[in-house]
Amino acid sequence: MKGPAIEIVSLCLVIVDFHTHSLASDGALTPSDLLAQAKSAGVTRFAITDHDTLAGYEAIKTSPLAREVGLISGVELSCRWASVTIHVVGLGFNPSSDAITSIIELLTDARIERAKTIAARLERSGITGALLGAQSVAQASQIGRPHFAQWLLQEGHVASVAEAFDKYLGTGKMGDVKTFWPSMNDVVGAIAAAGGIAIMAHPLKYKLTGMKLRALLNDFTVAGGRALEVLNGRQTDTDIRRLGQMAESLGLLVSAGSDFHRSFEYGAAVGVDTERLPSGRYVWDALGENVFTEIA
Ligand code: AMP
Ligand code: MN
Ligand code: MN
Ligand code: MN
Repeated sequence: MKGPAIEIVSLCLVIVDFHTHSLASDGALTPSDLLAQAKSAGVTRFAITDHDTLAGYEAIKTSPLAREVGLISGVELSCRWASVTIHVVGLGFNPSSDAITSIIELLTDARIERAKTIAARLERSGITGALLGAQSVAQASQIGRPHFAQWLLQEGHVASVAEAFDKYLGTGKMGDVKTFWPSMNDVVGAIAAAGGIAIMAHPLKYKLTGMKLRALLNDFTVAGGRALEVLNGRQTDTDIRRLGQMAESLGLLVSAGSDFHRSFEYGAAVGVDTERLPSGRYVWDALGENVFTEIA
C-alpha cells in the first residue's frame, strides 16, 4: 500500500526555479553546472537570472540539458526607485531585442563606473588597488560588490565576505553607490518591450516599511510590472502567505526562485517545490510558447 501512494505524490511534484546565478555574475557555478544541479533537483521550468548580463544564459541556451530543465531567458536587472536599489527579474523576453541589449549595455557601463567609485572610496580610506583586484576576481563576469568582497578577503582586509559587506560594501557603507542605476520604470519598460515579464525580486530584502513596500509595488505595477516573487531563497511560510496576498490584491502573478549563488550550509538549494506557493496565477502559466523557441 505504501509504495504506490509515494509514487502518486512524487508524480504531482512540480519543481521550478526562476531566480538563480551563475559564474557570469556572482554565482559560483558555470552555467552548465548550474543546469546540471537543476536537472538533479527535478526542475522542469528554469531560468538563469544573472545580475545585468545574459552571458550565462546565452552560453547554454541551446544545450540538451537546457531543454530538459525547461530553460527560458532570464536576467536580474539593477535599478533605483526613490533612493532604494531594487532588483527586477525579467523572464521570457527576446534576448536579441534592442530594448534588452541596450539596457544591459547601460547597466554594464554603470557597473564599471560604480566599480571605479567603490575603488576610489576604498583608496581614500587607505585600501589601494581594489579596482584591479576586484577585476581580477571577476575576470569575464559582470563585476559587482561580491568581487570586491572576495578581493578584500584575499588581501586580508577582512576575515570574511560578511565582514566585507558589514564594513565596506553593505547598505549605507562606502561601497553602497546608488546613483548609477537606471530607474525602475526604465528596466521594467525594457523587459516589457522585449516581450518579457517583469517580476519584483525579493520584496522583503529592501527592508521597507509596509507603507513604502505598498508604494513600491504600486509604482511597479503602474510601470508595467507583472509579477511578485513571493518566495525567494529560504523564506518562512508566513512571509509567503503575506506576499501571496499582496500579489493577489495588486493583480500580480506569483513567481518563485531559490536565488541560488553557491552551496552553503544555510543557503537555499536550486529548485522550489511549488507546493509551498499560495494558490494564484503563476508566472510560468503566463509565459508564451515563444520563449522556448530558441532551444533548438
Ligand atoms: P551588486 O549587485 O554588485 O550590488 O551586489 C549585490 C550582491 O551581493 C547580491 O546579489 C548578493 O549576491 C551579494 N550580497 C549582498 N549583501 C551581501 C552580504 N551582506 N553578504 C554577502 N553577500 C551579499
Ligand atoms: Mn547576487
Ligand atoms: Mn537580488
Ligand atoms: Mn539574485
